[in-house]
Amino acid sequence: MSKSESVVHGSAVPPNALPALGRLLETQVCAALIAEHGHTIVAKVARAHLDALRIDARAGKLDASQLEPQALHDAIAAGLDRELSGAMRRVFNLTGTVLHTNLGRATLAPAVARYVSQVAAGPNSLEFDIASGRRGDRDHLVEGLLCQLTGAQAATVVNNNAGAVLLTLAALAQGRDAIVSRGELVEIGGSFRMPDVMAAAGVTLVEVGTTNRTHLQDYERALGANTGLLMKVHTSNYAIQGFTAEVDEQALGDLARRHGVPLVSDLGSGTLVDLSRYGLPREPLPQDKLLAGCDVVTFSGDKLLGGPQAGLIVGQRDIIERIRRHPLKRALRMGQLPMAALEATLRLYLRPEHLTKELPTLRLLTRSQHDLRQLAADLQPHVAQACAPCVTVSVRDMDSQIGSGSLPGRQLPSAGLALSLAGGVSGAGRLDGRALERLAAAWRALPQPVIGRLSDNQFLMDLRCLDDVATFRTQLADLPPLLAQADLS
Ligand SMILES: *Cc1c(COP(=O)(O)O)cnc(C)c1O
Repeated sequence: MSKSESVVHGSAVPPNALPALGRLLETQVCAALIAEHGHTIVAKVARAHLDALRIDARAGKLDASQLEPQALHDAIAAGLDRELSGAMRRVFNLTGTVLHTNLGRATLAPAVARYVSQVAAGPNSLEFDIASGRRGDRDHLVEGLLCQLTGAQAATVVNNNAGAVLLTLAALAQGRDAIVSRGELVEIGGSFRMPDVMAAAGVTLVEVGTTNRTHLQDYERALGANTGLLMKVHTSNYAIQGFTAEVDEQALGDLARRHGVPLVSDLGSGTLVDLSRYGLPREPLPQDKLLAGCDVVTFSGDKLLGGPQAGLIVGQRDIIERIRRHPLKRALRMGQLPMAALEATLRLYLRPEHLTKELPTLRLLTRSQHDLRQLAADLQPHVAQACAPCVTVSVRDMDSQIGSGSLPGRQLPSAGLALSLAGGVSGAGRLDGRALERLAAAWRALPQPVIGRLSDNQFLMDLRCLDDVATFRTQLADLPPLLAQADLS
């Protein structure tokens, strides 16, 4: 160490001035790091750092100051940080999409997160009946709750709704036909396409009707000896408008019963409470579909339900039994962490009066534009100060959306902050889109990344999902150097 300290500052040093890895690991530079993290990872990171320095040295770009003990220590410590800190980061979702699939969809309620960490931190009664001391079934943790909340006779759960649909089709119609309206052959993001799911389940898709109109006779004509089931799919991410006709579950249920086949409904985003109670657009409820005559309904745990990723299957007891016995059920079964989260989330529904307070999804969806405007006005001066002088910040009304294919085309009046590059609007006309992207990147480089969206030559932050205002404000102090690096001029 004393050797490198004696090197003259500011001059390029040759590759042979680099310490050998073995020696470096024995010096004070690494001692504390090895004591904390062990030899293996420190050696790996130190080797990578020396390799990088060697490349610089060969290019004549290695400065002697980089070989000083403190500099070497800091670089290796930073490398360890990068290796060891989690890749999954808490972010601020200011995109305006409440259930954002790329940002984890529904946020778990704090009480739910506490329950998960408590029961999952040790052995638990996942498949154990404490009263009898016998083996239990993980479905039983949530089946009673799901039956209570939906009026179903029985319920089972799997990993996600795509899995729920796949399993239901395979269990009820493998090697047979499933009849679906042409207007309902949906594609959900992430390559869930109804025709492909049917094929994967070993079911033959029989399309009936046309894209815009399907009638009862269309289903009737397609029914035959090889029909395994009739299916309704909620067109959750698009709407067919104009000259349209579809057959409701009542009529379809009667038809299915006359032919002795089940009617399955894939609801996508099932909500267990009538959203119109909160001034939100009404989404179909699984309980409505069951009452109307569906034998089985599938829906997601992490869409409007506001829980963990899960696929919920509710319906007639004998049909749920057939589904439960299929081998795919075991392959698609839920893990204990989401299971605990689902159970705790469903329990929140036992106290509907508290839901808008306790269930984050519902709380965020029901925030009023008035409150969000107020929040935007409160934050505007602080954000403006952190962004000056290159960026101007204004309060703006916006439209949030629910996301994850819920309530397509319905906007929720919201408010937030619009950031423009100063001079961009009045000045040279077209803005430099790259500079705007660098502005967005600077916000993502904050300790808790802020994810907004770009629109109309502005960087927009919709405040509907901003919960932790204190952290948001505190980390504004980190923004000016990031904006300086972003070179927005
Ligand atoms: C979202 C959705 C699915 C897929 O559900 P995941 O929980 O994402 O697997 C299937 N069908 C419909 C109609 C949907 O909206």
